[in-house]
Amino acid sequence: MNLSEIVSNRYHKGIGDCSNEELYYALLEMTKNMAAAKESNEGKRKLYYISAEFLIGKLLSNNLINLGVYEEVKKTLADNGKSLAEVEEVEPEPSLGNGGLGRLAACFLDSIASLGLNGDGVGLNYHYGLFKQVFENNLQNETKNPWIEKESWLKKTDVTYPIQFGGFTLTSRLYDIDVVGYNNRTTKLHLFDVETVDESIVGDGIDFDKEDIAKNLTLFLYPDDSDDKGRLLRVYQQYFMVSNGARLILDEAVARGCNLHDLADYAVVQINDTHPTMVIPELIRLLMERGIEMDEAIDIVSKTCAYTNHTILAEALEKWPIGYMEKAVPQLMPIIYELNNRVNKKFRDKSVAIIKDGCVHMAHIDIHYGFSVNGVAYLHTEILKNSELNNFYKIYPEKFNNKTNGITFRRWLLHSNPELTALIESLIGPKFKEDAMELEKLGAYVDDDAVLDKLLAVKMGNKVRLKNYLKKTQNIDIDENSVFDIQIKRLHEYKRQQMNALYVINKYFEIKEGKKPARPITVIFGAKAAPAYVIAKDIIHLILCLQQIIDNDPEVSPYLKVVMVENYNVTLAEKLIPAADIHEQISLASKEASGTSNMKFMLNGALAIGTMDGANVEMHQFVGDDNIYIFGESSEDVIRHYEKADYVSRDYYNSDEKIRRAIDFIVSDTLKSVGNAENLERLYNELLNKDWFMTLPDFESYRETRDRMLGDYEDRKAWAKKTLINISKAGFFSSDRTIEEYNKDIWKLN
Ligand SMILES: *Cc1c(COP(=O)(O)O)cnc(C)c1O
Repeated sequence: MNLSEIVSNRYHKGIGDCSNEELYYALLEMTKNMAAAKESNEGKRKLYYISAEFLIGKLLSNNLINLGVYEEVKKTLADNGKSLAEVEEVEPEPSLGNGGLGRLAACFLDSIASLGLNGDGVGLNYHYGLFKQVFENNLQNETKNPWIEKESWLKKTDVTYPIQFGGFTLTSRLYDIDVVGYNNRTTKLHLFDVETVDESIVGDGIDFDKEDIAKNLTLFLYPDDSDDKGRLLRVYQQYFMVSNGARLILDEAVARGCNLHDLADYAVVQINDTHPTMVIPELIRLLMERGIEMDEAIDIVSKTCAYTNHTILAEALEKWPIGYMEKAVPQLMPIIYELNNRVNKKFRDKSVAIIKDGCVHMAHIDIHYGFSVNGVAYLHTEILKNSELNNFYKIYPEKFNNKTNGITFRRWLLHSNPELTALIESLIGPKFKEDAMELEKLGAYVDDDAVLDKLLAVKMGNKVRLKNYLKKTQNIDIDENSVFDIQIKRLHEYKRQQMNALYVINKYFEIKEGKKPARPITVIFGAKAAPAYVIAKDIIHLILCLQQIIDNDPEVSPYLKVVMVENYNVTLAEKLIPAADIHEQISLASKEASGTSNMKFMLNGALAIGTMDGANVEMHQFVGDDNIYIFGESSEDVIRHYEKADYVSRDYYNSDEKIRRAIDFIVSDTLKSVGNAENLERLYNELLNKDWFMTLPDFESYRETRDRMLGDYEDRKAWAKKTLINISKAGFFSSDRTIEEYNKDIWKLN
């Protein structure tokens, strides 16, 4: 049925008489039907990408694009006086992820479907996702973020399993979302839920009874883990995800003719970070239940599972106390003990043991009992091999490999930046939509003044679009003639939003002293902080206070504006990124595994200021010194500082006047007039006495580089040329390339 037939069936009126909401539900029905009518990808061996997060974003427009009907639907609506962009606004965004890792999983599903590979995603159907961020009194508060309405992308299936925990059993239910490939067949995102979940146990904020597992299991992604009950709930969630996933994998393999001894010929499991690690012992347990001896079960599973590491931050390498595991999943512990015994027998090196200091080290299970371990950017994989996981690398050099992350160009170019897409198509034709390396052909235009002018005009159009959007949705005013300098990513000390804030403070003082920038600067932040991450919330507080102080200062506000957008998510990213002039990728070198927002910005013609970290290293390699602004200490230097423990932040405070002035401002009367002394003093003390992520040593080179960049911005032609070079070199960062590499080296589907 076409749109007007669906509309007429549902509402007994024409498209022009419908509300945007009615049109959204009609389009949802149409799109779901079209997706369901497509054939699924097939093959003997099937990939299961198992992940606690899938940050999929809104799906309507992307599905219309991938189904090849976007322009048609847009025109039909326009002919009836309706706007697809306004209909899109009605769709709630599922917040089934926290940041880069979850967004990566979503980009991967798009590429898997688009490349026609036989692979599905497996995860959990969180009803309230992460949380919705609201600002009150310059502080972050959290509320629930409901996204599942009576009609949604979810399709209820008949698949249910009894999932056993220590002392009780819960019945699961599988919901599917069809993932439409670009001009291709479909795959599925399988999201498991529990039948007894009860949304009503959540009060005003995000508090609920953490012990009522039957009711709370799939309410939130990453429930607060600042206490035992929260941590235990995460173990329940993880086991629920993997036990369901493992059963589905075995059932589907058997249905395709597998006798379970040959499971590795029928299935490959990609474990996205350590959250799904228990799939390894669970598969072993289920194979044994089905009559396979332990030795063989371990061997089969070890040939089936592969692990992706996403971070070298020690606190993120999960380890669960044995007591939690014994309580939540007692049936798994005999297997984990046995896996640990085998490791201990084989290797003297205690550092590679699975059970140490009363905890189960999840990554160690993955590395010993998976066949592949990959990092997510060149530098990250090198650091894993040479330092963080060196003891494992010495044992299993053949398992380690790199798969530099990527992004889907369907969402991050075709959908988010139609004007740039049209300009590119007018220059090099449409082939880049399927083969991202075609973008290289733009290199022919870097000295073409007419093209550079058009590129600048596209950027200006996107800046105006962002201005209107922020005004409408958040009542924020920004000036499209200022430089848009954007840092959007999770709030974490290693990502160093605090260093950006110190730059803003320094700029504030310079303006007060009469040193005015050539053109006004708009510094935009977007970031959620984990609810229990105290210093991260203090940094948000500082930024919001700066925003208020500067807005109300007539001396400074004509030249400088700070904006912290509320509830940063995929939808906002899609508006912010095409409008950016400058993007901040300023993590402490060695700490950002890859980054993917850096790739999105590059593709959309923004220039990076960044450290030699994550995929910035590869970006730099592609575009050269002239087209990216690199500053700061190298990862080798940083790793050495940590080894020697020789960094003393107070020395920088004492010896550098600019740094001292900026840090003192955090606890000044000016800031305290709009902020809380407790938050500001805590942050001040943190920077002065600890500064674990070394913002102060990099500050001077950061400040100098950023000021130089603003100077360069004034040569508009030269700037446009740099942005075109960035776009032309972005092809490598397509997730299609990443997925082809995973398939060639790890999955070997078809
Ligand atoms: C791409 C993306 C991220 C990852 O950003 P990084 O800067 O690479 O950490 C996080 N959140 C959203 C909504 C994204 O789209």
